[in-house]
Amino acid sequence: MVVDFRNEPFTDFSKEENRRAFEEALETVRAQLGREYDLIIGGERIRTEEKIRSINPSNVDETIGYVSKANQELAEKAMQAAAKKFEEWKAVSPEARARILFRAAAILRRKKHEFSAWMVHEAGKSWPEADADTAEAIDFMEFYGREMIRLSERQPLTRIPGEDNELYYIPLGVGVVIPPWNFPLAIMVGMTTASLVAGNTVVLKPASNTSVIAAKFMEILQDAGLPDGVVNYVPGPGVEVGEYLVKHPLTRFIAFTGSRDVGLRINELAAKTVPGQKWIKRVIAEMGGKDSIIVDKDADLDLAAQTIVTSAFGFSGQKCSACSRAIVLEDVYDEVLNKVVAKTKQLKVAEAKSFGIDMGPVIDENAYRKILDYIEIGKKEGRLMTGGGKAEGNGYFIQPTIFADVSPDARIAQEEIFGPVLAFIKAKDFDDALRIANNTEYGLTGSVISRNRANLEKARTEFHVGNLYFNRKCTGALVGVHPFGGFNMSGTDSKAGGYDYLLLFTQAKLVSEVF
Ligand code: GLU
Repeated sequence: MVVDFRNEPFTDFSKEENRRAFEEALETVRAQLGREYDLIIGGERIRTEEKIRSINPSNVDETIGYVSKANQELAEKAMQAAAKKFEEWKAVSPEARARILFRAAAILRRKKHEFSAWMVHEAGKSWPEADADTAEAIDFMEFYGREMIRLSERQPLTRIPGEDNELYYIPLGVGVVIPPWNFPLAIMVGMTTASLVAGNTVVLKPASNTSVIAAKFMEILQDAGLPDGVVNYVPGPGVEVGEYLVKHPLTRFIAFTGSRDVGLRINELAAKTVPGQKWIKRVIAEMGGKDSIIVDKDADLDLAAQTIVTSAFGFSGQKCSACSRAIVLEDVYDEVLNKVVAKTKQLKVAEAKSFGIDMGPVIDENAYRKILDYIEIGKKEGRLMTGGGKAEGNGYFIQPTIFADVSPDARIAQEEIFGPVLAFIKAKDFDDALRIANNTEYGLTGSVISRNRANLEKARTEFHVGNLYFNRKCTGALVGVHPFGGFNMSGTDSKAGGYDYLLLFTQAKLVSEVF
């Protein structure tokens, strides 16, 4: 039996030896930039003419890699390979499948800094953010491996004399996995390995912006002994390749993390039965957020300020869990605002070449323009306190930006910006703060900073979000500790890293035999 699950510890960058090891990893990766990566279908490596050029968002002249680009014909080939392999893979024992995850986790642990360094280059993460992403990827594999073993054990049933009754969790079939670029390793690994450990085969369409890190992970799966065809790697455009896969009659389920609009589109396409389809497709979607931190009048205001800054500007606010609304009771509003502005002004924005950079760029040109547009909208909807535009550098750098006195219904208080833009909203009292916090179409994360027990209890039931935190940040959910996923337009109410997650990738079969 495997040892109990433990979260992978984060690297302590205050230690010089760790900083040096990370610098070496950055160099190792730097020496590998600009290489080509093939599609992998049924174990066959396929090189296409057309390529995705993955660039460094901190330095747009630098190419991370050239990745072959699938089209519909290749997507079809991947689907057929996955469907064929499913017939074999579903018969492999859950323990054997889990062992591949444990081995992959061990390999990734040994290459931890190297993978984090890829994310510094390809996604513009700071060192601690990249380190946490790699740790979470390791956690997902260790956790889901154990979960599959648990689900394969004798399941609780009401037993009656004279009959042998057993319930088995069997796989679904071929899953299309469409991960985001913002946790390019962790979420991609989580959705892919949950699928495969449950006995499904996968067509993986990574986010184009971060398709190199996904290619590096394919190498790990191969080293860990995953048979060819269980995971098929087909980067390509969402509209052409993604939609083709979602609509395919052989697709049994879709695991998606990304924006609300794309999630809804996938859900709609998946709901339409196509000729040759024999099942109702399952959609497991984790979508956006418009997450609030409420600061009560008797809160520890330094804690409140630190919590807001970390939650709003970590990875430039490009997390669906990020705080984009600080809802502060009027009694302490000015004080909290001033503290948050002062701390935000100290953030260092640059390429994370060395330790100590707080915020990198945003992911690409589209995001850059969209966020700068929102900042212009914000200038009409609130009082600009700090930031307000581009930051220096040969990449998509944006200043951490704060607007005060924003109305709860303003666009910047309602629409997901996915960038370093924070709206301060004043509340009359705690009930008013809760009302404002619940006044969005999302329901992903939220925090309450308070010392008032009655208010915390009230928030516990009334603050309608999937991940609610008291007196701590609203980002950084840990696998197994804080199962992650939200309500309403934030997704399908699934909990990644939770004890019921793998059930979404299986179906239960009951066998009853009379003796
Ligand atoms: N699980 C992450 C967190 O708790 C957020 C995931 C996401 O942004 O998709 O911060």
